[in-house]
Amino acid sequence: MRCRFAALLTAALVLLGASASAQAADKVKAVASFSILGDMVKNVGGERVEVTTLVGPNGDAHVFSPTPADAKALASADMFFVNGLGFEGWMERLEKSSGFKGRTVVTSKGVKPLEIVGRHHHGGEAREEDHHEEDHAKDEDAHDHDDHAAHEEHGDETHAEAEEHHDDEETDPHAWQSLANGEIYVANIRDGLIAADPDGKEIYEANAEKYLAALRKEDTAAKAALARLPQSRRRIITSHDAFGYFANAYGIEVISPEGVSTESEASAQDVAKIIRQIRAENIPAVFIENVSDPRLLEQIVRETGAKIGGVLYSDALSDKNGPAPTYLDMFRHNVGALTSALSS
Ligand code: ZN
Repeated sequence: MRCRFAALLTAALVLLGASASAQAADKVKAVASFSILGDMVKNVGGERVEVTTLVGPNGDAHVFSPTPADAKALASADMFFVNGLGFEGWMERLEKSSGFKGRTVVTSKGVKPLEIVGRHHHGGEAREEDHHEEDHAKDEDAHDHDDHAAHEEHGDETHAEAEEHHDDEETDPHAWQSLANGEIYVANIRDGLIAADPDGKEIYEANAEKYLAALRKEDTAAKAALARLPQSRRRIITSHDAFGYFANAYGIEVISPEGVSTESEASAQDVAKIIRQIRAENIPAVFIENVSDPRLLEQIVRETGAKIGGVLYSDALSDKNGPAPTYLDMFRHNVGALTSALSS
């Protein structure tokens, strides 16, 4: 009797153990290149997907160096979710060195990329120039001679640089900073998961639908909140040019001393130019980013008296206890920081 019970118990335990390990093995093993993407994959994948993130909270993916542990994580993964648009310069080497055999999903596929011409003519300045042309058209003859000359000179310089350094054209990778693009990312994640794990189709579709609805709702709220700001106040400085897509989607202007990557440092001329610009155009606020060294902006603030509007989360989430532990939280936080700094 006793013996039979023990045998049954052992059999039951073996079965339980087997089914538990089968469940773990059945999960899709996904690696996401950076924290924002990791959160999106978790939202779509739910219980069926085990997500590992390479560049974690507050980490800078532009200057990331993968470790042997990262290569190991990728080697055993079924899927690799990346941003693309040149964001992860280290990606191909890591894929090769790790011997990754799974499926890579470029989540920005289908996004309309923002092209930046020349290292010194990145997003902020291109937008600034458009702005000038509008001003010029509106003001007609109201421009004084100095302004006019400066504008023409600037125009010529842009033209010359664009011709000389044709291959300097850079794609702005920060497409997730528009929630409409975020919807494209989510659709790509959903389709990638379905292709890798067709049995989960219904679950992935349901998760994605719910998440997409939340993104759309947040997009409407962000547009409404920023539309309430006076036009003259909708201009900010950030250290690297991470908010080009945000600027286009939500109608603000963002000027940055550094380019679209944190790899290139701002030159003394870039900084001097921005200081002049803040003084001349009365730009209300400067924002620190969670992934950039704040010292450059602190110098700009000291020299101009512009106020620090707060911290914007550009290329990474905060940790769990911070204000931006998810993609949606990040958006709410950034919009809240912008509206409170620019409305007063
Ligand atoms: Zn960036």
